[in-house]
Amino acid sequence: MKWSKMLIPTVKEVPADAEVPSHQLMIRGGFIRKLASGTYSYLPLGWRTLNKIMGIVRAEMDAAGAQEMLLPAVQPIDLWQRTGRDVDYGETMCRFTDRHGRENVLAPTAEEVITYVAGCEINSYKQLPLNLYQMSFKFRDEFRPRFGVLRSREFIMKDSYSFHASPESLEETYRIMYDTYKRIFERCGVEYVIVEAETGEMGGSGSHQFTVPCETGEDVIVYTADGSYAANIEKADVDGPKDSGGQSAAGAMAEVHTPQVGSIEAVCGFLKTKPEEMIKTLIYRTSAENAAKQVSQEKAKHDGRLVITSNAYVENYYIALVRGDHDVNEEKLRIATGESVCLADEKDIIELTGAAVGFAGPMQMTDHPYVVKLIVDPWVAALPVGVTGANKTDYHVKNVVPGRDFALEGEKVIIRDIRNAVEGDTYKGQPLLFRRGIEVGQVFKLGTKYSAKLEATYLDENGKSQPCIMGCYGIGINRIMASAIEVGNDENGVIWPISIAPYEVLITVANANDDEVTSAAEKIYQQLLDDDIDVLLDDRSIRGGVKFKDADLVGIPVRITVGSRGVAEGQVEIKLRREAEKELVAIDEAAGRAERIVAELYAELEK
Ligand code: ATP
Ligand code: MG
Repeated sequence: MKWSKMLIPTVKEVPADAEVPSHQLMIRGGFIRKLASGTYSYLPLGWRTLNKIMGIVRAEMDAAGAQEMLLPAVQPIDLWQRTGRDVDYGETMCRFTDRHGRENVLAPTAEEVITYVAGCEINSYKQLPLNLYQMSFKFRDEFRPRFGVLRSREFIMKDSYSFHASPESLEETYRIMYDTYKRIFERCGVEYVIVEAETGEMGGSGSHQFTVPCETGEDVIVYTADGSYAANIEKADVDGPKDSGGQSAAGAMAEVHTPQVGSIEAVCGFLKTKPEEMIKTLIYRTSAENAAKQVSQEKAKHDGRLVITSNAYVENYYIALVRGDHDVNEEKLRIATGESVCLADEKDIIELTGAAVGFAGPMQMTDHPYVVKLIVDPWVAALPVGVTGANKTDYHVKNVVPGRDFALEGEKVIIRDIRNAVEGDTYKGQPLLFRRGIEVGQVFKLGTKYSAKLEATYLDENGKSQPCIMGCYGIGINRIMASAIEVGNDENGVIWPISIAPYEVLITVANANDDEVTSAAEKIYQQLLDDDIDVLLDDRSIRGGVKFKDADLVGIPVRITVGSRGVAEGQVEIKLRREAEKELVAIDEAAGRAERIVAELYAELEK
């Protein structure tokens, strides 16, 4: 392709809303343009890269025995109501009512639809296992679309779903997908780490996330130096405290007047204590979504009519205790409570504790009829003595001894890790390290969560009906593109891996008004085209300096520069975008040399 014929609108200015390199460079390099918050048009160069990524994904999925298909983006909401995920996805799901009054959603993902579709066709164990995939637009009305295409409202996802007749068969396919994902990211030339992950609203029994380590990532990965453990922060386990060693000698609890001193920092300053001696008391309640789900289940039971006999769900409180220097991990809390919970609002807190926000404490909480559970982090349980809120506005209590002044045993008490890992924590004795990253893919063992609810069953060898056991596997195509730029750029522009660059080779005609230069460049260009190299010829009649800047910006990995002086001596320059050194090559040998370099760059990715 010739640059002069192509739409590559490079710009100098960094857009004001672009905070991260990938967003800035995708706009500056003419790869994308913003249409509205979280929606982008892919211009020809950007679309070429997306297609290259999809090509790699497709080749690897096919090699793994998966079959490509395409599901509709418009999905009837009732499938989602059957699994309860219409509520879980909440406002993230784009919904619309059609002209006949039917409610639909725009696919944020497709577990429900594929389970329905495959469920209709699968009858016998003889058809299993089956692994189906698609690459299609997904829509999520993200609360905060940001970082360009890293978190957009519309993106291309490769989603696959496997169906099995036994847990062993799921295990086998899960392993194959895991290895396939490794190959996909290797071939795309992005470094990645694999971490254990929570299954979240997806459900199921196990999951791994593929994350590209980089400072601008929104995820936090927690790992040990020897590589034996890596998890994302939502999942990361921490060692419990060492035994505190016997009874506390603290005196009786004592109330202290702490007027308008509500936050941990303020209390510590006021009472001259340390955050690690504070007991943070957080009040959660059944989430509004969960309450709504209970209402909708209740409705379903009564044929669509709302017959609510009690509003017990609004009075379900969970009290979470963590040390003052720790934060509650809501994913761990969700697992501990067995349901989705949210922080109680001010009104609830006042009603439950009798005190203003900031003065809650665990004393007597287990006696309260609306409190379902007191969930105590082991690091609180191990405190010999601490300070906490007095359940009285403007008061705290000192000398609080866990187990003496509030319950550590009994039906309503759970002692369980419910906090985020922090600097200084260990796992199995090894110090935990932290790193930011971008989630580019995730694989899940789903079990029968979807197949049971949507009746995707098969007849087993004994003719008995069984729900299919399922797995699902997702990759964000646009996120791979953006992450490659996050980790591959310098102050001048993008540095693409060869495999996903819009073109493999760029020929820059330094002096477009010199006929000899133009014809030497054309000759090399033609030879590369004949040899199936993706080559772009910058034939524009503009200054060489501008072309070199653009070449750096769009980041094509192998560059051939054809200039008057070199051509007079029968030579051209070959250079890699990522390196400073140039190589002088005879005009006749230039194409061959460039092809060998391209092959070497691919070989690097195969290693
Ligand atoms: P996140 O936690 O970042 O919101 P997720 O866990 O909800 O992502 P999945 O449901 O696992 O995402 O979707 C599969 C893949 O789709 C993700 O691994 C990611 O690469 C991509 N993806 C998800 N949301 C977006 C988005 N808003 N923009 C671009 N890509 C996305
Ligand atoms: Mg995910």
